[in-house]
This record gives sequence, C-alpha cells and structure tokens, in this order.
Amino acid sequence: MNKLLVLKTISDFKKYRSTLTGSVGFVPTMGALHAGHASLMQQSRTENAHTILSLFVNPTQFNDAKDLEKYPRTFEADLEIATENGVSAILCPDFNEMYPDEYTYSVMEKSFSKKLCGASRPGHFDGVLTVVMKLFNIVEPHKAYFGEKDYQQLQLIKNMVSAFFMPVEICAVKTLRENSGLALSSRNIRLSGEGKQKAALIYKAITESKTTEQAKTFLADHGFQVDYLEDIENRRFVAAFLEGIRLIDNVAK
Ligand code: AMP
Repeated sequence: MNKLLVLKTISDFKKYRSTLTGSVGFVPTMGALHAGHASLMQQSRTENAHTILSLFVNPTQFNDAKDLEKYPRTFEADLEIATENGVSAILCPDFNEMYPDEYTYSVMEKSFSKKLCGASRPGHFDGVLTVVMKLFNIVEPHKAYFGEKDYQQLQLIKNMVSAFFMPVEICAVKTLRENSGLALSSRNIRLSGEGKQKAALIYKAITESKTTEQAKTFLADHGFQVDYLEDIENRRFVAAFLEGIRLIDNVAK
C-alpha cells in the first residue's frame, strides 16, 4: 500500500500536484469519514490515476456556532479510511490557509440556494460554493465526486461549474444507507442508540408517504421537529431535527 501524504499548506500541496501525471479525482469532505465517503473515494479510484481527499471543516458554511463546535472530528480514523480506500494525498488546510481574504470574497447563487437548506441556514450555500471553488482552484482536479445525500449542494455545484466555465467534471454518487434506510452521515455519531434507530423513520416517511403533509405528520408524531419536507420536480427533500441534531435526506420520486 502506498504511503498516504498529508499536506497542510497550499504551497506544499501545489508542489505535490505539479509532480502528478494522469487524471486526478477529488473528494472534498469535512472529515468524520464513514462508508458513504468511502464510496466516493472508491469511485474516484476506479476512474483516475490519483485520488485527492480534502478534510476541512469549513466555518463559513455553518450559520450556528454551536453546530460548528460540535461537528465531529476524527482525524486519526479518517487517515485510516483514506489509506484503505486508495487515496494518494490528503489536503487538510487551516482557516488562514483557505481564507487569506478573511471571507471578504464569496460566491453567491441567488435562486435555488435560498430554498430548502438555504432557507433555514442563511449563507450556508455561499460558504459551500466559496470553499468548493477555492478547493478546485488549488487541487485542479479532472473529476470531483459529490454525494446525492446532499442533493441540493450537488446541483448547486454542478450549476456553478457550468456558470463559471470551470474545467472540472462533477460526478454524482448514490446515497449509501444503513440496512434500516438511514442515510450515512457524520452527524449520526451524535445520535443515541435509540435515536439512530428512530432516525431510520426519515427514509420510511419520504419513501412511503403519499403526500408531503402525511410524511410531515408521521415524523412529527414520532418526535421529530421537521424543518422542511418538500417535493421539488421529481425529488422529495427533508430536513428534520432529532435529539437536537439536524438530519437531511432526499429520494427520487
Ligand atoms: P461531508 O463531509 O458531509 O461534507 O460530505 C462529503 C461528501 O460526502 C459530500 O459530497 C456528501 O454528499 C458525501 N456523502 C456524505 N454522506 C454520504 C452518503 N451517505 N452516501 C454518499 N455520499 C455521501
């Protein structure tokens, strides 16, 4: 197994990047890696000569300081998962590396980013799009991998790439789920055992209810605080709180 390179500065990363030949696949993450992230790495590995992973808990996409503080951080375990899944190098910069401008410059989308997660988390997608554009400019990947788990994010990134003529192909990866239907998420670590079982009802609600109203009622009756549950075009989207943790999911209808 090749030794995994861990690069903390952009200048070190760029030196490394300049040595690579062949296609580069990129998997941006906020760490606390799980099998869902691993499926992105595996797809990249089969399609590229090199796979780069980034680990950066991006403060500008958190509108709630407590949520940022409580975001799980599991660096040593992340290194193991990256190694096992054929990652060549990890980029893990700190805030000052990523934001020398202190976030005075940002990328903003004016329409879809204001709906669903954007409606309840003001500025969230500005932070996401800004950090993804920065990462693309640093990593210069041929292909970048994003999960359908964050479908709104995936759509906004695809559209940003197209709007700014960015030379990268966005590849979508299906949502990986537990047998119960629960979508794997870094936030699941924070649920109690009972909470984790109950959280599977989110998938049941969005796949088995005829209407969004029925699905909302079902979740509320089981102790969830529903943030939104909406059908848009051919998909059903949900965000709901359980044990104070915000969980999201979506399915094709
Ligand atoms: P995050 O670390 O939560 O920012 O996620 C990094 C990437 O992994 C994003 O593109 C997510 O959509 C993707 N991802 C997270 N959970 C899953 C999952 N259960 N299945 C597939 N992809 C996922």
